[in-house]
Amino acid sequence: MSDCIFCKIVRGELPATKVYEDADTFAFLTIQPTNTGHTLVIPKVHAANVFEATPELWGKVQETVRKVASAVEKGVAADGVNINSNNREHAGQQVDHIHIHIIPRFKNDGLTLFPHHDRREDEGEPVAAKIRAAL
Ligand code: AMP
Ligand code: ZN
Repeated sequence: MSDCIFCKIVRGELPATKVYEDADTFAFLTIQPTNTGHTLVIPKVHAANVFEATPELWGKVQETVRKVASAVEKGVAADGVNINSNNREHAGQQVDHIHIHIIPRFKNDGLTLFPHHDRREDEGEPVAAKIRAAL
């Protein structure tokens, strides 16, 4: 995609602070880190989100995530990492090119990324049934 900023990074038309690259994927530091070392993993070919990804493409991205997550944790001496992907506008996706966030976490860093509640009765089996039916 000619005007996609992550495609431009892949083509070298925009700068990026590269962490890793192979034939199919690219990893670089975000310009707005949640914590120092916050890294994004993207496929080199354009696909907007998980819904557009082929199994092969998604597998390649996830293998790079696995590899880079270890390096991020070691590299910034983190105590763990969160791995997250926002898909579509109302899930917080700002750049419409698949990207997986690897966010280093530190003991007592104070972040609460996903607030949650105890599951209600109506959020159990009836919801699972709807999801199963959509598979
Ligand atoms: P999301 O909100 O999940 O779409 O995340 C978009 C991510 O891309 C955020 O972490 C942004 O800081 C990051 N980002 C946007 N533009 C750039 C850029 N030119 N270089 C590096 N990271 C970027
Ligand atoms: Zn793109």
